[in-house]
Amino acid sequence: MLVREAEETFGGGTRSAELTLPGFVHDVCSSIHPFVPGSPALRELPLGEHGLELVQPDAPLAHPLDDGSAVMLERSVVDTAAGLGLDGDPYRRLLEPLLGDWGKLEAAVLGPLTAFPSHPVAMARFGFHAARSATGLAAHTFRGERARALFAGCAAHSMVPLERSPTAGFGLVLLLGGHRFGWPFPRGGSQQIADALVSLLRELGGELEAAAPVDSLEALPRTRSVFCDVSPEELVRIGGGRLPRDYLRRLGRFRHGPAAFKVDYALEEPIPWTAAECSRAGTVHLGGTLQEIAESERAPWRGRHAEQPFVLLAQHSLFDSSRAPHGKHTAWAYCHAPNGSGFDMTERIEAQIERFAPGFGERVLARSVLPPSELEARNRNLVGGDINGGAATLWRLAARPVTKLNPYATPARGVYLCSASTPPGGGVHGMCGYLAARSALDKGL
Ligand SMILES: Cc1cc2nc3c(=O)[nH]c(=O)nc-3n(C[C@H](O)[C@H](O)[C@H](O)COP(=O)(O)OP(=O)(O)OC[C@H]3O[C@@H](n4cnc5c(N)ncnc54)[C@H](O)[C@@H]3O)c2cc1C
Repeated sequence: MLVREAEETFGGGTRSAELTLPGFVHDVCSSIHPFVPGSPALRELPLGEHGLELVQPDAPLAHPLDDGSAVMLERSVVDTAAGLGLDGDPYRRLLEPLLGDWGKLEAAVLGPLTAFPSHPVAMARFGFHAARSATGLAAHTFRGERARALFAGCAAHSMVPLERSPTAGFGLVLLLGGHRFGWPFPRGGSQQIADALVSLLRELGGELEAAAPVDSLEALPRTRSVFCDVSPEELVRIGGGRLPRDYLRRLGRFRHGPAAFKVDYALEEPIPWTAAECSRAGTVHLGGTLQEIAESERAPWRGRHAEQPFVLLAQHSLFDSSRAPHGKHTAWAYCHAPNGSGFDMTERIEAQIERFAPGFGERVLARSVLPPSELEARNRNLVGGDINGGAATLWRLAARPVTKLNPYATPARGVYLCSASTPPGGGVHGMCGYLAARSALDKGL
């Protein structure tokens, strides 16, 4: 097996680098990984024997509010419910049955939406809630602001307006992931995931070449199967000679979603949260109420920049001392912006952090800003800064990358697409490659 990587280092969305100052390790793209332990594909691999160690913060997630408190997603449903006041019971009634069903659900949730589920009853129960909009499910299920805000923050990972279906599904999957697997991260940085995979592949006899972009499928050595971890646009560019025109035309209509605008920080001290319990969590969602988060997520979809963007922040160094020099800290943060946007969101991101942690700015030693264009320059799969490999609308989840029974197989014999532009979509879970490989095996390679 031969892997060809365009960039100088392996890892794609799981790279780490000293983006700010020497000794500060930052994750360039992905940072928090519930679906590394939660992935049926990655669970099969002995990545621990190849150096991967996952760190579980005390709590997966904190969601501070303007009253100085924070809603906490705890590992246990009961403990989470205890912080939700009058919505504690509804939270348990919603989450507990789905959590009990997770073993039956995961293959369907982490696979093509169009495949017939092996546990239709469990899937129907999940689908009843998941197919809704996040605002619809939250309004129907919860009466208080705390549970609604917690749910909205998780659903906003979809990067789709929260009034649209199936944003409730994203909220549920992330909450279930938190209860079942935690929201852990690799000690030493996301790069450790890629390094463990590289080490395992080499042990199995695979070869890897970095700084080796593939510019045409026809120029590749003769082989039975080619797996393309590329965007639909890139497949059009490199596959022209082998793929029929009709398929290329359909790929050309693929729609990308909003972008990420990312800032990494080297910090003199930990973030001074008003709600002290935020320091127990690896991830902090900054956006206030459901209404505010919904407003923030509508903006990039309409080509606007949210005045008060929903910010996703991770604070690894509180739980992993290898991320920063002794006594110093890191923060990783991003918000959503229109695809390809050139607008600088740094001040707006920092205003949101200051809102819940006054004095944050005084602790910043250095910052690294990665706008959508810079993310794409470092990884061509991030088209216009889209981190999910395509808009996560219901239609685009079902027809990913095009309407086709087997989304991984292209019309060219032995050529497969296996990036986040195939099911189940964005995120670090390895399922796109795994399911593409399964599909090749089913065809006898
Ligand atoms: C800022 C940001 C934050 C994120 N946060 C998280 C998170 O916390 N948790 C999470 O699970 N996910 C997160 N993600 C999403 C996650 O990183 C991606 O969804 C995931 O990495 C997509 O995997 P992929 O295999 O499709 O592509 P990638 O991981 O991007 O890998 C594709 C690789 O293929 C290479 N390539 C492309 N074209 C060619 C070519 N022609 N020749 C050779 N090589 C080529 C690229 O250089 C790249 O290395 C984040 C992403 C970003 C950008």
